[in-house]
Amino acid sequence: MKVGDQKFLRDLNKKAILRLAKYQGPLSRAEIADLTGLSSTTVSSLVNELINEGVLEEIGEGVSRGGRKPVLLRFNPDSFLVVGIEIEGDFIAASLMNLDLTIIKKSKESLLDSSEFGVIREIAALVKDLTKEISDEKILGIGIAITGLVEDGIVKRSVNLGWKNVPMEGLLRREIPDIPIYIDNIGKVGVLGEKHAGNGLRKENFIYVRVGTGISANFIFGGQLYRGSNGYAGEFGHMTLEPAGPLCHCGNRGCLEALASGRAIAERMKKIALNNKSCKIWEVVENETEITAKTVEEAARLGDETALQIYREAGYYLGIGIANLVHLYNPELIVVGGGVSRAEELLMRPLLESLQSRLLDELKNSVKVAPTILGDNENLIGAGALVLEKVLQ
Ligand SMILES: [Zn+2]
Repeated sequence: MKVGDQKFLRDLNKKAILRLAKYQGPLSRAEIADLTGLSSTTVSSLVNELINEGVLEEIGEGVSRGGRKPVLLRFNPDSFLVVGIEIEGDFIAASLMNLDLTIIKKSKESLLDSSEFGVIREIAALVKDLTKEISDEKILGIGIAITGLVEDGIVKRSVNLGWKNVPMEGLLRREIPDIPIYIDNIGKVGVLGEKHAGNGLRKENFIYVRVGTGISANFIFGGQLYRGSNGYAGEFGHMTLEPAGPLCHCGNRGCLEALASGRAIAERMKKIALNNKSCKIWEVVENETEITAKTVEEAARLGDETALQIYREAGYYLGIGIANLVHLYNPELIVVGGGVSRAEELLMRPLLESLQSRLLDELKNSVKVAPTILGDNENLIGAGALVLEKVLQ
């Protein structure tokens, strides 16, 4: 075995120990040896290294299995930090988190220049500000969640930002050369956030449906993110639900995204409200440009029948789409996130009705559908989870 191979193996074994301590700890050295199948000498030496690096700590004694009481080891979530960045169409948010993905510091700026250079400049400034009192070695990495298709650090296409083939990681590395940078699509990052810190914690098979400006579904199967052959799995928003339905920005008709996304909700309200000045939405907004999924939600809460109906229809179509997913994949859980999911029961009630009415009897009680528990921080926490995923796997 070459020296390089030995180091690789050692790193892999250290990661296996860390994963165990993080998700199943505290554990003794003997338990770690049992669970990993490594010899007790190897475990001892790796654990000592991890203690010296500060990632593991000893926290007193456990129950004896005969003989001396074993010392328990705990994963130390504060040993390193991660940075999460979220880029939407009109703002950038950044956060500093510990390894449990607890947010320590957070900031948000409106995005005045959404060109790649404007965005890179803004990210570099936010990272510099968040980490100014911290040495680079303490930061495991920067995770970036972006709307659009991402392959190997290159943003192939982002409709929201108007980008095509932007080598984002390369551009950013010139500004921030000393911290590892990981970039992925916001829906993929979202499912990792659920896996590491949300409803998906310790779940092996679940789906994260993101209902924002667009719609996506991302999958954890056997504990791993499913990416598809080119990394584009999850374009749930372009599943056809009404072949003669409204035009989608992809060029097809009746895609789920053209029927139930934040963009579709706003478009539908605009169409109706512009011909009807008595519509309650006009009590919420002053002009057409302020009509968004959020303001339609506010109008619905004021009892506006049009707004309520629009949310019922969005929920109805999402329920059909999710029923298709459940029939295909038989997941144990579906988490619904994204900005539109903050409408809670306005969306979830019609969604669940529509879903239940379509599921095979055998599948009716097999799947739990729940909104994300991470709230408005879901994308930042997901971006942090992207770093953990890269470092620990
Ligand atoms: Zn489409």
